[in-house]
Amino acid sequence: MTVENCLFCGIAAGKIPGTIIHQDQDVIAFADINPQAPQHILLIPRRHIASMVDLTAEDGPILAALFTTAAKLAHDLGIGETGYRFVTNVGPDSGQSVFHLHFHLLGGRKMGWPPFPPSSHHGTR
Ligand code: 5GP
Ligand code: ZN
Repeated sequence: MTVENCLFCGIAAGKIPGTIIHQDQDVIAFADINPQAPQHILLIPRRHIASMVDLTAEDGPILAALFTTAAKLAHDLGIGETGYRFVTNVGPDSGQSVFHLHFHLLGGRKMGWPPFPPSSHHGTR
């Protein structure tokens, strides 16, 4: 299912250019256009799901596919041993900007923990 005006549906359908790293019937992985780490890949379900809020128990297999594909790609990209982060943003406080479920696979450098707010913004919320 392709949702009109959805950027990531467009990339999944090949209508919008993207550096595709992997694709199969359920999952597409492509390079983030504004990488935050030496390796920064986005993994999405081919089917339009706006965010994790819209997942149901029936979506278990697609989540398993996203996670196992991410682990395989991390291995193939050479960050399987050094480690990586696999995250999804939900809603305004997280900074979610694209409303088609996606996981960020980030690696190739040390990650901070916990994720701090942008340095220009020191509010408690
Ligand atoms: P979010 O902030 O919603 O968690 O993540 C959206 C991500 O999509 C950002 O990291 C951003 O760099 C990436 N992005 C935005 N537009 C495009 C695009 O046109 N192509 C690709 N490959 N990534 C994009
Ligand atoms: Zn979509």
